[in-house]
Amino acid sequence: MNAKVGLTSGDEAEDFFVQTLEQAIDAVVIIDDQNRVVFFNTAAERFWGCPRLEVLGSNVSTLVPYPLRTHHDDYVRANRETGINKIVGVSRDIQIVRKDGEERWGTMSISKIALGERILYAAFLKDVTQLRLKDIEHRLLSMSVNVTSSATCIVDAHARLIYVNDGLIRLLGYSREDVIGQSPLTFFVSDIHAQAPAEPRLEKILCGQPHEDSALISKRNGQRLWVHVSSTPVFDAQGQIDNIVIVLTDITQSKLHEVLQEKVISALLKEESLESVLTLMCQEIERIAPEVIVSILGVDMEGVLHPLASPGLPSHYSRAIEGLSIGPVAGSCGTAAYRGEPVLVTDINNDPLWADYKALAKESGLRACWSIPVRNGSGRIVATFALYFRECRGPDPLHTHLVAAGTHLCMLALEREEARQSIRRMAFYDALTGLPNRNFLMSQAQRCILEMARENAELAVLFVDLDRFKQVNDALGHASGDELLRVMAQRLRSVLRESDFVGRLSGDEFVLVLPRMNATHVTVFLERLRSILSSPTTIAGTSVVVSASIGISLFPGDGQDMESLLHRADIAMYQAKRTERGSFSFFLEEMNRIAQGRLMLETALREALTGNDLKLHYQPQIHLASGRLVGVEALARWSHATLGTISPLQFIPLAEECGLINDLSQWVLREACEQLAEWRRQGLRVPSMSINLSPINFHNLNQAGLIDQQLQRCALQPADLCVEVTEGVLLSNSLATEKTIRDLHVLGVRLAIDDFGTGYSSLGYLRRLPISELKLDKSFVDDLKHDNSCRALSESVIGIGKGLSLQVVAEGIESAHQRDILKAQGYEIGQGNFFSAPLPGEALAQWIKLAPFKNLQVE
Ligand code: C2E
Ligand code: MG
Ligand code: MG
Repeated sequence: MNAKVGLTSGDEAEDFFVQTLEQAIDAVVIIDDQNRVVFFNTAAERFWGCPRLEVLGSNVSTLVPYPLRTHHDDYVRANRETGINKIVGVSRDIQIVRKDGEERWGTMSISKIALGERILYAAFLKDVTQLRLKDIEHRLLSMSVNVTSSATCIVDAHARLIYVNDGLIRLLGYSREDVIGQSPLTFFVSDIHAQAPAEPRLEKILCGQPHEDSALISKRNGQRLWVHVSSTPVFDAQGQIDNIVIVLTDITQSKLHEVLQEKVISALLKEESLESVLTLMCQEIERIAPEVIVSILGVDMEGVLHPLASPGLPSHYSRAIEGLSIGPVAGSCGTAAYRGEPVLVTDINNDPLWADYKALAKESGLRACWSIPVRNGSGRIVATFALYFRECRGPDPLHTHLVAAGTHLCMLALEREEARQSIRRMAFYDALTGLPNRNFLMSQAQRCILEMARENAELAVLFVDLDRFKQVNDALGHASGDELLRVMAQRLRSVLRESDFVGRLSGDEFVLVLPRMNATHVTVFLERLRSILSSPTTIAGTSVVVSASIGISLFPGDGQDMESLLHRADIAMYQAKRTERGSFSFFLEEMNRIAQGRLMLETALREALTGNDLKLHYQPQIHLASGRLVGVEALARWSHATLGTISPLQFIPLAEECGLINDLSQWVLREACEQLAEWRRQGLRVPSMSINLSPINFHNLNQAGLIDQQLQRCALQPADLCVEVTEGVLLSNSLATEKTIRDLHVLGVRLAIDDFGTGYSSLGYLRRLPISELKLDKSFVDDLKHDNSCRALSESVIGIGKGLSLQVVAEGIESAHQRDILKAQGYEIGQGNFFSAPLPGEALAQWIKLAPFKNLQVE
């Protein structure tokens, strides 16, 4: 039974109220005017966890929340005295501590009870601890959902978005209004990379099974992101899908690395070339971010840029970049490589860094460029990696990820290339001279031999061994020996044509492989090689002259494969060394004889040109009807003290091959002009002088100038001279040749086509080029008597000549019969032994004076 509370309306009424309060679900505590607890019901006992006997009669402050305890009496007193209600009549949540220490929350309302002078208070508390905890949990939960960087959304059973967290809003840039009620397809886009459309992916997410996947989604601004998607269905009581919770996590960065890395690294593993690996990477990046164009430039040791890959740029743009130098003001890439840091130009047209190149960029539609230097393992800048934009702008986070992945892979690819090159160098090249080593040389040579076999061409292998290298090594030390080998290697390299190659076998042994060369070509080549090798060089302050012994073998004559050719060239080299150091030897004696003979002839011809062994003979050209002398042809003659007379048919081609033809023709020109001038001084009427020039002379752009000078020196007129050349001159089809022909015409010197009818098949040139004369080849004249077809040919030649108003000379006339036939065919001029063999100048003067034709002499 409760203590008396002072109710006045009788026991029943009191009983009624006490029972009511006693049985209330809420805790009820009543205090008297001394703040002593006078009523504490069962619910209160439960709430505070303490029997009423322990609280009844004690001050209520033991029941109030800790922080209030000390002030509680004052609060209550203030309320009693002032009547100002702070808590009476309102409800508030308070936290109490139970007897056992557990904390509970209650919603409390207080009633003020005035009994005469005394004021009592009744407190009603409802236990809201569970609600309160739920509420906190909910608050924390929604806080955690909104604070994380993950984006969460919830769809309903119809796949409509019903909830999106702040993370999703932040991630995608949509507002809640944009997406609530929409399908998640709003931001799930086709995966351009895997070329997978978005719908099937979304279906998997919505199918009711927990699902994890990665997908490409699009921000509101169109920028793409890779996300990890985790979806969890929530079912209702009947087992039907109620909601699906979808959590998206941005994995763009790692995914980009993964996707790019997968492609690029698999290309690297497949040993694809640097260019194709980098091109593939550019294309992949451009697929992920179609708004950019990727360009990768190499930076060489000299700081010069070389485009490595830029499939999205016009090719002329890349060509224009090739060879540009890096520098403080060199566009984005050149400047980035120079500064060693990224350079971002958001407006190419107005940025001083692009002043020199903006026109080029503009015409290719490029407006902005972000370039990042790429360093190799040792820190040197070896490339630049750039993103170009078609509008004025800077990079966004996706571009930053792309660049991070791109530069990294670019570095890998370049390092692989460097490693590859150095392995290649080590495996295939000789470290000292940088020349191919034995293995590489052999395999290259073998390939080349197969090619020659297909072409039916010859090939020469030269085994070069330096003479007395050991002495140099011993005398000057090994470092000097090495230096000498490097010099020799460089010299060997310098004489090669593009198709040739040279390698170092070992020590002082080198091997040259010369495709499409026969014994004759080799002999000419050897001259040059030996003169280059034997020129003095300074090693360690000492002038050293080195000679080399050279052995030669030829494919296919001396062997079918490189092993045997090398072996035979080696044997030949020893043979040369035995004969005389610094000499050469062919493997086959026969070849050797020919080559040595040729070498001798060549040396002799050089001497003849400087000495007196060459002479000109002159053969008259006669007007057939009148017997008048119309001119003479100068023909070169060489008679050697020991070799005897050598035919021009032998020494002219030799002079052409060994580079003496210009000197020889110059000599002929001078000699012939001087002779003509001399005859004229003697009063002999020689109307014209013909000289023969080689087609090679026509490559000399100053040929007409040289002729002009010579004519002037001898006070002759251009019309006094006729230049004969075979149709071979037209075969080279060179611009220089045509120019020389036209220059001669302008000068007024006539041009005759020698041996007409034997060479060139097309006659079109006769119309196109300023030609004055045709010389019917003497082979036609030879057979005129017996061969009808020859007659027909000589008739057509005169026909052509007449038709084109050209002078036609028949040469090699040996008989009156031939002369008569030709005359009958309409030939006006003839030349040949029938009239006179070619004669020395004086003899020809004699011939003219004694000639049976009166009109040959000056009256
Ligand atoms: P070519 O210019 O057609 O000279 C005519 C050749 O026919 C000369 O031979 C001449 O001696 C020969 N010949 C003339 N009449 C008769 C004849 O009745 N019967 C026979 N069997 N032969 C006759 P050669 O002097 O041996 O010259 C041969 C070729 O060498 C020349 O043919 C010419 O192409 C070239 N040649 C000669 N001298 C020179 C020169 O100074 N410079 C250049 N580039 N070539 C020259
Ligand atoms: Mg001639
Ligand atoms: Mg001729």
